[in-house]
Parts: sequence; C-alpha cells; structure tokens
Amino acid sequence: MSYHLAGQARRLRECYHRAEGLAGAYYQGEKFVAALHRLRGEAGLRMARKVQPFFWSDAPLLDVWLCAECAREAGLAARARELGAA
Ligand SMILES: [Zn+2]
Repeated sequence: MSYHLAGQARRLRECYHRAEGLAGAYYQGEKFVAALHRLRGEAGLRMARKVQPFFWSDAPLLDVWLCAECAREAGLAARARELGAA
C-alpha cells in the first residue's frame, strides 16, 4: 500500500457509528481536534476513541465524519446550531 505524503488529498476518518447507518456529517479535522482539547481529559480520550485513529499533525488535511450524537458530545453540533441561529 503506497502512502502519498505530497498530495493534497483529504484524509477521511469517521466515528464507529457510521457502520450502524446513523445520520451524521463531516467536520474539519482542526475543529474536531479543537473540540477534543475543549473536552476535559477523560471525556476527550473517550471521544477520540470513537473515531478511527489519526495523527493530530494531519488535522489540517482531515475530514472527520461524526454521527449526530458524537458531534453533540464533542460540542460540534451545538456550535453549528449556535452559528446557524446567529
Ligand atoms: Zn458516532
């Protein structure tokens, strides 16, 4: 399996609930990483474990798919609603 470092290809990760057919959406990797930082220790680790592993240094190239529940747990869904309502 080749590994292209030079390309601008986005890297996709998703939470494990996608296999269950839940509804969800893609979020920018940097926002997801920022969300993990906002969560306190244990909660952040628990959240991180719900998504396929990735290097945090790849965050700028990353798109993370989260089901509605994971997005809410990460604080991303609430943020989107706030922005939408503003
Ligand atoms: Zn999920």
